[in-house]
Amino acid sequence: MKTTIQFRRLLFILVLFMLQACGQTPKKINDTQNSTTMENIINKPENPYYSNTDTTKLNVSDAEWKKVLSPDLYAVSRNADTERAFTGKLWDSNTKGTYYCAACGNKLFKSDQKFASSCGWPSFFEQDNKNSVVYKEDNSYGMKRIEALCGRCDGHLGHLFDDGPKPTGKRYCMNSIAMDFVPDKIISKNSSGNTLEKITLGGGCYWCVEAVYEKLDGVKSVVSGFAGGKNANPTYEEVCTGRTGHAEVVEITYDNTKTNLDEIFKVFFTVHDPTTLNRQGADVGTQYRSAIFYANETQKLAAQSIINQLNSEKVYENPIVTTLEPLTQFYKAEDYHQNYYQNNKNQQYCQMVIQPKLEKFEKVFKARLKE
Ligand SMILES: [Zn+2]
Repeated sequence: MKTTIQFRRLLFILVLFMLQACGQTPKKINDTQNSTTMENIINKPENPYYSNTDTTKLNVSDAEWKKVLSPDLYAVSRNADTERAFTGKLWDSNTKGTYYCAACGNKLFKSDQKFASSCGWPSFFEQDNKNSVVYKEDNSYGMKRIEALCGRCDGHLGHLFDDGPKPTGKRYCMNSIAMDFVPDKIISKNSSGNTLEKITLGGGCYWCVEAVYEKLDGVKSVVSGFAGGKNANPTYEEVCTGRTGHAEVVEITYDNTKTNLDEIFKVFFTVHDPTTLNRQGADVGTQYRSAIFYANETQKLAAQSIINQLNSEKVYENPIVTTLEPLTQFYKAEDYHQNYYQNNKNQQYCQMVIQPKLEKFEKVFKARLKE
């Protein structure tokens, strides 16, 4: 809730700010996808034993574990330390996703096997599969307990108790630090098996939109171009007449393990005004329309959902007029339009219009900028 409110506040400030012109004229020349669970999502280059796909039992020496695990994780995983209650990052999380062993990457639990427990440690009533967790009697501290260990690396995870909810009656009481959590949203991969996805967005002047997304962490490339019009391979001059039906757009390629559609859309609705029909500031014409060109049903539904949310929360004074259009073809714009801001920083237009937008974006998404 807190983030939503902050987001609204920021949006409001930004909207006020963005109502200035993006005065783009021809003169400036002189101046598919399936959602499937992806196992191999976490990379830990410092830990050669870590894998989300390899289920072969590990037999690694303690000295070796000490080398490849962080001291905190080593203390829990290899020395059966317990993190203090209510201090771990996962104990009260109810985000949908998958939990893996932080030491070796073995799949342990799904979020729908987790339950809200008041004990201060993440608690589950069932393990993902029979090889996820194994047990050992633990008589330390004068108590008779069942220790829960990773089925692949035998690393300590926590304990197993008999006071859990139905249907199993079990309570897997785990240390947050012993687990990696991967939210469902970012464990989708496309049919070719990589984690790169594309989305095409029209937010008025593409110079501005491009400059912003170039800075967002997880974005691999941003290409300025045109979409949604009648003829193939339109030139900038043709699109400028407003008669071809194309919109100025950017094609964003991003790594879905580092950012996601949700964030891409949040940036989109922060850096342009989605409530002015066929217009951004002083730029008027259908080529400047606010538009999301969706490549598949997932993108369409995600776009619809954020628009509904922003409308129902009345983030903007006026309703959102952003169009949802199926992407038929993206046409790259002429070379001098690419990286326009980067190549023309000293131009008045860049300083007056793009620079302030960029600064605002950097403020709002401070934690999410590329290094
Ligand atoms: Zn493990």
